[in-house]
Amino acid sequence: MTDETRDDAHNVVIIGSGAAGLTAAIYAARAALKPIVIAGSQHGGQLTLTSDVENFPGFEHPIQGPDLMEAMRKQAERFQVEFINGDATSVDFRRRPFLVVAGEETLLTRTVIIATGAGTNWLGLPNEQRLIGHGVSSCAPCDAFFFRGKEVAVVGGGDSAMEEALFLAKFATKVTIVHRRDSFRASKIMAERALRNEKIGVRWNTLVEDVLGNGEVKGLLLRDTVSGRREEFRTDGMFVAIGHHPNTEVFKGHIELDANGYIALDHHTMTSVDGVFAAGDCHDHHYRQAITAAAYGCMAAMDAEKYIEARRG
Ligand code: NAP
Repeated sequence: MTDETRDDAHNVVIIGSGAAGLTAAIYAARAALKPIVIAGSQHGGQLTLTSDVENFPGFEHPIQGPDLMEAMRKQAERFQVEFINGDATSVDFRRRPFLVVAGEETLLTRTVIIATGAGTNWLGLPNEQRLIGHGVSSCAPCDAFFFRGKEVAVVGGGDSAMEEALFLAKFATKVTIVHRRDSFRASKIMAERALRNEKIGVRWNTLVEDVLGNGEVKGLLLRDTVSGRREEFRTDGMFVAIGHHPNTEVFKGHIELDANGYIALDHHTMTSVDGVFAAGDCHDHHYRQAITAAAYGCMAAMDAEKYIEARRG
């Protein structure tokens, strides 16, 4: 028996439980690989922070992000996928079987599928960090309810910012999108929806320089990038929607990452280490959709299965 086929090693450990990780788990389980999923601190990944999902095929009517992820998890559980709570805290990909540590659990495994997704980018202002949960948020579906009858600002000009603004407009009396340029990056349909909404206004060419308030948000210090003029803008909250970064810190030095921390892949889903695969937003900075993450999860599970088969001889 080679070291790689040791009896106490799992076939596949999947790190992450978003659309990529759960799809990989369903495919791996159906290939009789008995996958273990390290679910991470945010079960279900980024989709649990979203509201209406209208573009995931198979649902005629919008499905809520958390409901979609719950359904995926239940589907995985039906195939006896085992879940471990918490984050992967360290890995060793030099030894075989590979070693993955998640808190108290140490797992040996023949293959790994990394599906750790991406996290929120913040503006990086000291007062922003201090006031998270006190008027500063990155998740309208989680926190919009607290802004019933209040005024809020949304920072960003992409689809996420439009989605946050539209969701908040159901609760707040006024939503102001603060965008650093004079045109949106968002898809036309989303931008038009936001611009048509009577409660939503836009501050173009504007940067947030500070968040004002002690125990809670009272306003923002804004700067007009054209005139250079600064202004204290009264608002009860700030939702930050300026993109995401890959959750790949724990893999630094163990597999090849690009300059922005995204995992580099071969032409399929293999990373720079044979037997370690990646799926979803941790490597894909281009598409970043629920359906593409799920598709990558499927591909990674099939690649892992082939890899194991080839070594069984
Ligand atoms: P994004 O498309 O990268 O947009 C980020 C926005 O934030 C941009 O407008 C950018 O400005 C702005 N920004 C970045 N850094 C900033 C900073 N430091 N200060 C101020 N503004 C800053 O990210 P996203 O909106 O999160 O979307 C990511 C992906 O998910 C996209 O592919 C999107 O289509 C998809 N998505 C789809 C849906 C949907 O279909 N329902 C919903 C959400 C997200 P610039 O424009 O000047 O660069």
